[in-house]
Amino acid sequence: MIRLIAERFVLIAIIFLLGAEIAMAGVAQIKGVRMWASPESTRLVIDLSHSAGHRLSTLVKPDRVVIDIDNAKLVSPISGLNYNLGAISDIRSANKKQNKVRLVLDLKYKTRPKSFLLKPNAKYGYRLVIDLEKISPKSLSEAPKIIKSVNSSKKRDLIVAVDAGHGGDDPGAKGPKGTKEKHVVLSIARQLRDLVNKKPGMKAVMIRNGDYYISLRGRTRKARKLNADIFISIHADAFKNPKAHGSSVFILSSRGATSEAAKWLAKKENEADLVGGVSLDDKDDMLAKMLLDLSQTATIEASNSAASRVLSRLARLGHTHKSRVERAGFVVLKSPDIPSMLVETGFISNPKEERLLRSRSYQKKLASAILHGVDGYFKQYPIPGTIYAKDVVIKKLTSQVVISAKQHKLKKHKVVRGDTLSAISKRYRVSISAIKRANKMSSNTLYIGKILRIP
Ligand SMILES: [Zn+2]
Repeated sequence: MIRLIAERFVLIAIIFLLGAEIAMAGVAQIKGVRMWASPESTRLVIDLSHSAGHRLSTLVKPDRVVIDIDNAKLVSPISGLNYNLGAISDIRSANKKQNKVRLVLDLKYKTRPKSFLLKPNAKYGYRLVIDLEKISPKSLSEAPKIIKSVNSSKKRDLIVAVDAGHGGDDPGAKGPKGTKEKHVVLSIARQLRDLVNKKPGMKAVMIRNGDYYISLRGRTRKARKLNADIFISIHADAFKNPKAHGSSVFILSSRGATSEAAKWLAKKENEADLVGGVSLDDKDDMLAKMLLDLSQTATIEASNSAASRVLSRLARLGHTHKSRVERAGFVVLKSPDIPSMLVETGFISNPKEERLLRSRSYQKKLASAILHGVDGYFKQYPIPGTIYAKDVVIKKLTSQVVISAKQHKLKKHKVVRGDTLSAISKRYRVSISAIKRANKMSSNTLYIGKILRIP
């Protein structure tokens, strides 16, 4: 108890000292304002000489965002920004009484503003970041995602979401020659897009297609909005040892998925109530959790299967950093209903690989390896309604999940994305040949939606 009181006292003392330091640090000078704009969001970065508190408020008719910065001073008027792209049409600024600065952003349309203060890094000092995310009149992300159209006799294309990592004020890793990850990954992404679009039955959608930043959640949200069947995030690695080399492929770790499931259920995110196109609002918590777990597990298995194929294609191209698909809790991989992978195309910190990553012909080889991996995956696990599938029943993912949960008792198994015969045989403890015999199967190919009898 005494120790606790002592600890509290120390804490209070530290807070006092911190307060004194902030007061002594003086007025934060606003050294400049930078802006990055994409079709969906606009980022404003205010460079400050010191840390400063701020408040954000919004006004309507017309739409404005007001930023009040405490204990700060505008050294020179804000100028040189290009308002052609993005949400902002003009910025007005003024030094107010008691060392306050007010910035008023005039907006072209309604946005969802967010702000945070970044601490100094090697390149920049304190930065106040304002993100303005566009609110579309009828936000598609809030509408249930209908997984694959029902009753359509016309086969649809598979949609491959290609995500170039970083962008805008986030350059990503840097090579010894100054190559920035954000640039090389965008080139690789564009080459992948072109290859995918040449492939019959596939269509690419670009998550980032320019030098701007999109939040990690914004990336998965965009993939869902575009009805992506698979999500591929492209990056380049860096390590302090310049000898580190090789490509690697990551999928979401189940630990990451578990905590993500909790987050989805906590509705911390706007789209939190959507799993496989069905709102969880009207389900009780236990059922909701089960649905989410199952859908996430199926997606991780599918991701793993697609990622292994991409990795083995990359291995043919050269050295891979690790021989197996790795698992990590990357936010960008956390879509519960879209198989997702993150490809580290090589080490930009390795002089030899930096050179390769800059070369267009090597970029194309990387893109082609990724395409072949994805193509192989969809050939083995065709999605109903696409030209990769022959004749299979079209169902929503969630209904597959519910049925497969019940099937534990019924000793029937409905094939979901990512299923393999060997996994099914292990799960029900029956041999592959017995399953094949019971279902009169001549090959090992499984079709999503097919109900297998388990002998
Ligand atoms: Zn990266």
